[in-house]
Amino acid sequence: MLWLWGLTVHINFKLLISGVLLSLSQQAFAQVNIFTCEPEYAALAEELAPDARIYSATTAMQDPHLVQARPSLIAKMRQADLVVCAGAELEIGWLPMLQMKAANAQVRSTDKGLFFAAEHVDTLDKMANVDRSMGDVHSLGNPHLHFSPERMLLIAKALTKKLVQLDAEQTEAYQQRLQSFSKRWQAASSKWQEVASQLKGMKVIAYHSSFRYLFDFVSIEQVADLEPKPGLPPTSTHLASLLKRAKQGDISAIVVASYQDLRGANWLAEKSSLPVIVLPLSVGGNEQSSDLFSLYDNVLDLLIQEYNAQKLLAL
Ligand SMILES: [Zn+2]
Repeated sequence: MLWLWGLTVHINFKLLISGVLLSLSQQAFAQVNIFTCEPEYAALAEELAPDARIYSATTAMQDPHLVQARPSLIAKMRQADLVVCAGAELEIGWLPMLQMKAANAQVRSTDKGLFFAAEHVDTLDKMANVDRSMGDVHSLGNPHLHFSPERMLLIAKALTKKLVQLDAEQTEAYQQRLQSFSKRWQAASSKWQEVASQLKGMKVIAYHSSFRYLFDFVSIEQVADLEPKPGLPPTSTHLASLLKRAKQGDISAIVVASYQDLRGANWLAEKSSLPVIVLPLSVGGNEQSSDLFSLYDNVLDLLIQEYNAQKLLAL
């Protein structure tokens, strides 16, 4: 009898343990695993799904056009419930390979766990006729969307829908998160709009079309590109033509993202006496840019500082 009692206790204890393990594993399973292609979307996911496990394939110090499908990235994508990327072919050179190697059916189609931000907004600069001679052009429009406050809000709404689709149990929490984000984002956007009015009319030479949406938002004109063609580094002939352009005297600065090669910009700066402004392309691109809000704050600060300094010099 005593032996039988011992057995019962033993069995109950085992059941109890396995029950605990089961609920733990259920909990772990319920945590959505999000893989993002760029840090701006990791930052957005952080806002909208703070309980999720979030991983970014690239940092702001990397070129998002050119990424190696490393084994660690493949392993991360294999575990993902949701993959969030800019889209519009920004990742065309590496995402398909990563998807193939990860062999995770869940993140193969946008009907399921694949999300392209560009599919939910209008892109700027779509091109009808594209051929190889034009370089690495973004024919579906510029995919560097995250400096458009308006578009980011639309993307946040669409991403919330996707999260609800994948994790319906948390619907209410996702909706609350979106509401809180929207409120803070709209308030910040009005503030940015106001601050940015100081930049209206500023002309710059910049590297690639990385800040196309930012310049659109704050009415800065990018009069020339350090790249002779998209995806190509500056050549000496091209730099010479930029110098000629700079000498017209209406340009205030050369703008480069912190991951981009500074050599061409520095050469031009030296010859033209224009300042180089190094902006973070995304969250983590410098110390101050720790989330989407501080990224915008910092980028506007850096531009305004230099523009005002230039205006003082011109007096
Ligand atoms: Zn690009």
